[in-house]
Amino acid sequence: MIPLEEAQKYVLERCPVVASVKRHPNDSLGLVLAAEVMTTEAVPPFANTAMDGFAVRASDTQGAPKQLKVVDTLAAGAVPQVMVQAGEAIRIMTGAPMPPGADAVIMVELTSVEGDQVTVEAEVPVGNHVRSAGEDLQPGQTVFTAGQVLTPGHLGVLASIGCAEVLVREPLRVGVMSTGDELIDGPQPLAPGQIRDANRHSLLALLAEAGFVGVDLGLVPDDQEALEEAFSAACLGEQRCHAVLSSGGVSMGDFDFVKVVLDRLGDMRWMQVAIKPAKPLAFGVVGEVPVFGLPGNPVSSMVSFELFARPALRAMAGHGELERPRVLATLEGALPRHLDGKTHFSRVTATLVDGRYWVRSAGGQGSHQLSAMAAADALAVLSDGTGAQDGDQVEVLLLR
Ligand code: AMP
Ligand code: MG
Repeated sequence: MIPLEEAQKYVLERCPVVASVKRHPNDSLGLVLAAEVMTTEAVPPFANTAMDGFAVRASDTQGAPKQLKVVDTLAAGAVPQVMVQAGEAIRIMTGAPMPPGADAVIMVELTSVEGDQVTVEAEVPVGNHVRSAGEDLQPGQTVFTAGQVLTPGHLGVLASIGCAEVLVREPLRVGVMSTGDELIDGPQPLAPGQIRDANRHSLLALLAEAGFVGVDLGLVPDDQEALEEAFSAACLGEQRCHAVLSSGGVSMGDFDFVKVVLDRLGDMRWMQVAIKPAKPLAFGVVGEVPVFGLPGNPVSSMVSFELFARPALRAMAGHGELERPRVLATLEGALPRHLDGKTHFSRVTATLVDGRYWVRSAGGQGSHQLSAMAAADALAVLSDGTGAQDGDQVEVLLLR
């Protein structure tokens, strides 16, 4: 067995960042910038009012209450035509440009109007409620640097500077296949010995949740020719993926052909990692495509995805932060285990009370017991030993 960190390092070293493409910002949510973005425009583009009210000369409000003559009205989108002279005011709506001559805005709530006269009830300083040009962004400024993950707020900023194209890392297309003669898909009755495929569905969902494009490569039997054809199409064909996940067929069984086929097609390493679940991992590069031969047990395939595939795929997509957050939590109940030279990743539910995490077992901890994985919000990291007791502080990997 090899330590988890060694296996993770081996995988990461063979998962280089993907090429970059030009896309419209609106098609780039969740993608990673491959180049910085500059603005040629100021935001806001002109000085404007932050309030509905009256544009005035601040000096005219000295000794308020004061009466001023209303000489114009400015709506958002209007172009000021009239200058504010001493003793005058212009009625102005939020977002309208500041008229020449005015250097402050008094909010409408602090005024009263009679005919063409407005009484200002308070003294205001120069710049009151004025949003000056470039207060958010200056022309020539770097708005975002390479490596930035684009969130909804970033798309808003890009729109506000008139950006129609960004250079981002390609969205990752990741193929997923389930291997095993016993697997069927769909609601038809199970024939003797058959089970329903769970892994392809959970793995495609994990990919979607992580912001990648899952490509369903279907069910593949435990047959060397069929596996070779499926991996070849996914890794070497015209429509090849950026990476491929398979599940099953990487253990010690007589029909575990995934590792055999990957060895033939590419540069493959079959690892026994000192973890439970998810000890076996076949990782290979076929052509230039990283292939993750995940174990078949449903919990193992998901845990293996979390520990190996997700960080590596994030690295390929250009992310800097690869791992799930790890926090300390207080254990409620016990998480017993035995000495076996492995680090255990127990499925736990987590609650946050007054800023502190509490975790408890999410149910049956067998690698075939997917219900506990479904219920889990976190994986408790139990180093080799006899487990953790009620009240112990344990390290957990937050899954959500
Ligand atoms: P394997 O790694 O192929 O030896 O499979 C280990 C265990 O996981 C066996 O009990 C398989 O039947 C089961 N298994 C493999 N693939 C899947 C799958 N896609 N969905 C549900 N169970 C699976
Ligand atoms: Mg199998």
